[in-house]
Amino acid sequence: MLTRVNPKNGDELSILGFGCMRLPTKNMGVDEPRAIALIRDAIKKGVNYFDTAYFYHRGKSESLLGKALAGGYREKVKVATKLPPFQLSKLDGAKKIFATQLERLQTNYLDYYLLHMLTDRAGFDRLVGLGVMEWLEELKAQGTIKNIGFSFHGGKAEFESIVTAYPWDCCQIQYNYMDENNQATKSGLQLAANLGMAVIVMEPLRGGKLVTHLPAEVKKTFSGYDPERTPTEWALRWIWNHPEVTVVLSGMSDEQQLEENVRLAGEATANSLSKEELQVFEHVKKVMHEKTKIPCTGCGYCMPCPSGVDIPGCFSCYNDKYLMEDKSVRFRYLQTLGVTSVKPSFASQCKACGKCESHCPQQISIRDQLNKVSKEMEGGIYKPVIWIARKFMKLS
Ligand code: SF4
Ligand code: SF4
Repeated sequence: MLTRVNPKNGDELSILGFGCMRLPTKNMGVDEPRAIALIRDAIKKGVNYFDTAYFYHRGKSESLLGKALAGGYREKVKVATKLPPFQLSKLDGAKKIFATQLERLQTNYLDYYLLHMLTDRAGFDRLVGLGVMEWLEELKAQGTIKNIGFSFHGGKAEFESIVTAYPWDCCQIQYNYMDENNQATKSGLQLAANLGMAVIVMEPLRGGKLVTHLPAEVKKTFSGYDPERTPTEWALRWIWNHPEVTVVLSGMSDEQQLEENVRLAGEATANSLSKEELQVFEHVKKVMHEKTKIPCTGCGYCMPCPSGVDIPGCFSCYNDKYLMEDKSVRFRYLQTLGVTSVKPSFASQCKACGKCESHCPQQISIRDQLNKVSKEMEGGIYKPVIWIARKFMKLS
């Protein structure tokens, strides 16, 4: 197992992290004996970073990880879990959640504690206002948490604003060869690394879509170069090729996935992809772009929008709908564009001022396209779903 160092504190972390959000299941719940065996086997194979969250598996992920790490495993690994900001209206609520998390995880300290799913700076500022950061610093001074970080699912500008707003120890971003220009983006990854923090990558396979939803032409391109190499291997090697990445999380749910990922994590060093392999990715991305409905490159020149629309984020989700025949893309649209954000950034917020269009190097008719996105991604039952979700979370 290869390792990389968190520059903030010298932690030597396995480049493969275990994401505990897709544990093996049985009868609608976590298959406990199998999940525990899988986690312990991963530790024996050198995985030392385990990522969970208050909500994963409806709260059962943290308890399961606590059970799996009992009996001498806890000391061998770093445990990361997350505080759900969207559930907080007072600092007391955060303290209660934190106490529950320690109990579930059967530990008296957390190695990495992250604010879960920040999407905008206003959301982070709200937490600062509640006193959350001050309280986290107290916990860190006591040694109850070792590192403070955040996980992120918004757009590039918001990422840059949050990552530079606080001396974070780590951040967790969505990154893969299809998201190079989406969400935090490659420049966001480089910015975080330059700021000297660990960068944890999630969704390396876009929830498995880069394995199961690839267009036939892309599969052919990959197998034409090397018939033995799986789409998983292509995708993971691409991420580990970036020296700025510290850990790649994989939500492993079976023994075969663990086996393949561990094998790759023993070989995939930074900057190891050859010129020819990088050309394969260039071709794959080209094919993907040709199948893309809106030729947005995610450059962000059209931003910021005075009405708060995340223009590249809206286009990216819309494109995925056609490119990957991804049925969950509408849910991801709602999540990424801010159903839980203080300031959402949906296509329907466009006021058609036209300010953005002259900045677009792709000469996209942004207003027309956003109108199409809004109809397709927010139409039908989705508008009421957004309204109910925001009402439930007491967001305006
Ligand atoms: S046209 Fe719409 S998306 Fe473009 S800047 Fe104006 S409000 Fe924002
Ligand atoms: S300027 Fe054009 S290509 Fe760039 S992010 Fe905006 S819409 Fe996409």
